[in-house]
Amino acid sequence: MENQRKSDYGLIGLAVMGENLALNIANHGWQVSVYNRTVPGIEEGVVQRFMEGPAKNKNICGYTDLKDFVLSIERPRKIMMMIRAGKPVDSVINELFPLLSPGDIIIDGGNSNYEDTNRRVVKAEEQGLLFVGSGVSGGEEGALHGPSIMPGGSEGAWQHVKPILQSIAAKAEDGTPCCQWVGPQGSGHFVKMIHNGIEYGDMQLISEAYWVMKNMGGMTNEEMADVFDEWNHGKLQSYLIEITAKILRHKDKDGQVLIDHILDAAGQKGTGKWSVINAMNLGMPLGLIGSAVFERSLSSDKQTRVAAAKLFPRTVRKSDLPRKTLIDHTFASLYASKLVSYAQGFSVLQKASDEFNWNLDMGSIARMWRGGCIIRSVFLNDIASAYEADEKPRQLLLAPYFAKEIGQLLNGWNSLVANAAIECVPVPAFSSALNYFYSLTSENLPANMIQAQRDFFGAHTFERKDQERGKFFHEDWTGHGGATQSGTYNV
Ligand code: NDP
Repeated sequence: MENQRKSDYGLIGLAVMGENLALNIANHGWQVSVYNRTVPGIEEGVVQRFMEGPAKNKNICGYTDLKDFVLSIERPRKIMMMIRAGKPVDSVINELFPLLSPGDIIIDGGNSNYEDTNRRVVKAEEQGLLFVGSGVSGGEEGALHGPSIMPGGSEGAWQHVKPILQSIAAKAEDGTPCCQWVGPQGSGHFVKMIHNGIEYGDMQLISEAYWVMKNMGGMTNEEMADVFDEWNHGKLQSYLIEITAKILRHKDKDGQVLIDHILDAAGQKGTGKWSVINAMNLGMPLGLIGSAVFERSLSSDKQTRVAAAKLFPRTVRKSDLPRKTLIDHTFASLYASKLVSYAQGFSVLQKASDEFNWNLDMGSIARMWRGGCIIRSVFLNDIASAYEADEKPRQLLLAPYFAKEIGQLLNGWNSLVANAAIECVPVPAFSSALNYFYSLTSENLPANMIQAQRDFFGAHTFERKDQERGKFFHEDWTGHGGATQSGTYNV
């Protein structure tokens, strides 16, 4: 596969994302070299299949030898990996290192764990190379027509990768590319991880809205599709709402609506779980995404649910609420819970930024998510505006616009969660968000009791309302306890 001119970009990994990104890059006038490992008998012919199929007559050169692939790329080389996250990324990096020249750039576009990216940035820089950990969102369609791209890592790489990445990225309505430099180390992958966590939350919330309207409203798929379509023309306008309406109308080969044939056991590939683990490590509440992850786990254990349903049989009744009221309250719950989810997600980003000195720009992140990615929505404009206001919100829900919105949604949200409990319909994310809202807006919480219990059994000490913060006290609760206290650190 001789070619006179060297390629502008290299791409390793020709599964669904890699193939489509390579085509997207070539469609934007760049020359691309592509490589996929060849595992005899298993994946033989991946490159050949691509070259003879979708890549035919495009400005794409295919290689099955890694050295030839590397040599075909203009220096400083820009080589993107779109491969399975985890060990495969390290093994490909180890193969690449000896073949590269100083200043060459490796871009990991997969869903890598940000801590792995932290480590890989250091390792690459020690070798005189640059490393970019970049989230890429948008699935197959986005990869081909314009994903949202979240690059971070060795900052010196940005000037070299910016023209290509911004040219292939989605463009927001105002024309801004949905690809901006995020920050150092693994910040790009951290931001992508939280994006995916928010995606888990949005999907769970939409599923609850569907379930409420189906069970409490007795609505047909077609009727629910009409509601989602209507919502897609208002404040909830987003890709996920749009595809939900389409899913509710999509017919199987037998003419029935496919959604009714799909087993209710959700899969997951890790980024939702990582979001929650990292939020916990940072000491930040991320309850809504947590509910979404746990609900997927619970859904996948269908056997236990079938057994439990036999033990606690119930017939779901249609709610007495008039249909319009039920739909309005469902809208209020979905929108308000979504506000809570984004507020929690952005608070985790802010905490990570402070903790790791990443200096993340929340407005820029919100704007980057407006196009190309799975959570794209008009609502991200409001989030960006809130972060770009003169007075930065301490918490998104406290920004004047969002505080006003929540105030108007609260009655419907309260009513729906209460009615769902009465009708025995699970709404774990709607109620988790509502409880978070009430805890957040409570000047007093029962944590005084927790502190008393901790001090009672473990001498963990407590602060007092009538003393300044930071002074810790221990009580001899039983009259025969010792004076020795436990340390007062938080983990
Ligand atoms: P997969 O995650 O299924 O990864 C398949 C690719 O990884 C193939 O090219 C495969 O090569 C390669 N690979 C696997 N193991 C190894 C290894 N040990 N050494 C070298 N190469 C290996 O493909 P996707 O296209 O779905 O995703 C690519 C990356 O992008 C992943 O990190 C994924 O999480 C992320 N991503 C995926 C999205 C999606 O919608 N699918 C969206 C956004 C990001 P071979 O053909 O030889 O097996």
